[in-house]
Amino acid sequence: MGPAAVLVRPGEIRLEDRPVPVPGHGQVLVEVSAVGVCGSDVHYFTDGRIGDFVVEAPLVLGHEASGVVRALGPGTTGRLQPGQRVAMEPGVPCGHCRACRRGAYNLCPDVRFFATPPIDGAFARYVVHDEDFCYPLPDHLSDDAGALLEPLSVGVWAARKAHIEVGSQVIVTGAGPIGLLAAAVARAGRDRGRGERRAALPSRPGQKDGRHGSGGR
Ligand SMILES: [Zn+2]
Ligand SMILES: [Zn+2]
Repeated sequence: MGPAAVLVRPGEIRLEDRPVPVPGHGQVLVEVSAVGVCGSDVHYFTDGRIGDFVVEAPLVLGHEASGVVRALGPGTTGRLQPGQRVAMEPGVPCGHCRACRRGAYNLCPDVRFFATPPIDGAFARYVVHDEDFCYPLPDHLSDDAGALLEPLSVGVWAARKAHIEVGSQVIVTGAGPIGLLAAAVARAGRDRGRGERRAALPSRPGQKDGRHGSGGR
């Protein structure tokens, strides 16, 4: 058995002991080490829904997770072995639809995404997850850093979308985790360039600790 934090209704999370899940074909069992709290988790907690996604049954939240592989299901490749630390990509697409076939698997309409009803998330001792969506973590990255890779990818995507290059001047509005990681990605080029200025603005007026990295040089 292993504990899981279950959202039973908006505003109420209960700790439950649940059986250790058994990895299916192509899946591995992961003992969770660290999980980030996303804005979506907060929305589900406070409102019980995000748009059309409604929590209609008890749901385990959390989708930004790292952990340690503990067991292998049938049909796994051997790329991961028990004891391997991994970061988990939370959305597992179908692999067969039009979006998946053209490589845009993030748009798969049948994606199974941690903590999106009715799929349970990672605020649990154990989860099963597709081997292909578990990425080995190098020793120098902490468990917490591993859990931040999913929101970091949002910053990488934003930087690409905005065509940020060495020498770009960048402003990031909103200094929550995503904003700070977007600023960190934008700033990553600074070490190789010079002369650019970047800033992240606080999400709310008076949120002083949000000021970050202005006037980088
Ligand atoms: Zn998230
Ligand atoms: Zn698909």
